[in-house]
Amino acid sequence: MCSVLANNQPKALRVAVETLGCRSNYADSVSLQAALLERGAVTCGFDSVADVYVLNTCTITDAADREAMKIVRQVRARAPHAKVVLTGCLAQSRRAALEGYPGIDAVVGLSSKSEILAVILGVNDAGGEPETEPIVQLASLKSPISHQIAGPSRTMGEIATRARYHLRIQDGCRNCCTYCIIPQIKNELSSRSAEDVLDDIRYLASVGYREIVLTGTHLGAYGEERGSSLMELLSLLAGKSAVRRIRISSLDPNELCPEVIDLIAENELFCAHLHVCIQSFSDSVLKRMNRRYRMEDVREILWYINNKLPRCCIGSDVITGFPGESRQEVDKAIEEFLGLPISYLHVFPYSERAGTPALRLKDSVPVVERRRRAALWRKHGEARRRDFLQGCAGRELEIIAERAVGGAIYGTSREYAPVKLPLPKGSNNVFAGYPAVGATAIVRAVAFNESEKKLICQLSNPEN
Ligand code: SF4
Repeated sequence: MCSVLANNQPKALRVAVETLGCRSNYADSVSLQAALLERGAVTCGFDSVADVYVLNTCTITDAADREAMKIVRQVRARAPHAKVVLTGCLAQSRRAALEGYPGIDAVVGLSSKSEILAVILGVNDAGGEPETEPIVQLASLKSPISHQIAGPSRTMGEIATRARYHLRIQDGCRNCCTYCIIPQIKNELSSRSAEDVLDDIRYLASVGYREIVLTGTHLGAYGEERGSSLMELLSLLAGKSAVRRIRISSLDPNELCPEVIDLIAENELFCAHLHVCIQSFSDSVLKRMNRRYRMEDVREILWYINNKLPRCCIGSDVITGFPGESRQEVDKAIEEFLGLPISYLHVFPYSERAGTPALRLKDSVPVVERRRRAALWRKHGEARRRDFLQGCAGRELEIIAERAVGGAIYGTSREYAPVKLPLPKGSNNVFAGYPAVGATAIVRAVAFNESEKKLICQLSNPEN
């Protein structure tokens, strides 16, 4: 589908998509870009010249909101005649306020891909006739934001170089973590049915994807609203999935029961990688955060994973400088962390979010101290990552080749290890017997290269 932009000459619409926030937003953006490409639009980087700029926003903190508005102002200054579309969580939570904001042409929810496609292209998601005029003539679509999760677009051609697809299967959260605004803006739980997920994966495998990452706003709540559960879905996938491997994006510690771990351990389909959202290693801080588990639960489940899947890469998040966090709590939390089988950390200094209960908590930690604690945690996280990757040396790993550049193939193993597979000299990024981009291969890890932060590997047993 083309849009008539100038001189009545049909010209492909250039659409730039930028993503802020979590993997679920990333999954939505990938799906949107694929749908735009299929309809004849050209997608480009946010710093390129485009007809439409789509910003997929996050609203987890006030800083995330400010970041989104800064990007809007920058785009508007750079491209005064382009159209700017805001979508994602900020768009969902502040739609009324943002619709009149200077520089924003449309505010839409991304959960319903047909809605945003209608805004941008004036087509419906089934590829039918335009339902509305394209955005070049449109200020805003007035329909309510939908909570339905759109599956992947069904008109992708088969491409052998595809590696990984982030598939959103769940939306919404009803937990009440005191630092988080999500339950106030996405309180309605919604999940794709197990049949739809199976069907999506079958389709994605048929067009060339080797790995599917299951994502959601609160993935552990998958199926709750329909009396189902993530465990049920995973059991079904274990028996029937068409794809090579499935990665589970992130779960809270209390959502990882032994049955889920056993299932993952017993099925080759699932990657030996679990991201567990722990957020703090201090019971008193967890209580103030209103998280639904304590360190006793964390210890129990992490050691269970470690026993069942000794090679599993276990990651976690940490928020530093949460209101009231004392130096003693930090010291004790680090001691706890050091005693646990965790392979890497994602560290975030606490950032205020208007409308969250945490704003009412006393004893705010100065920003500079939050950052100092974040730096300390990052040092511990990096040491763990290094230890984990060094521990992979000598092992055989299954990788998916993601790119070939500079005489080497780069990919990711099931254990989330970034891998470099140097090609024989003079091979110009392809070599017989080595995996093409998009293919899987068995490699042997030789050593961890600290400066490249990659496992250097040798080919063990090529396969496609
Ligand atoms: S579980 Fe907590 S942090 Fe995660 S989305 Fe729900 S309220 Fe926010």
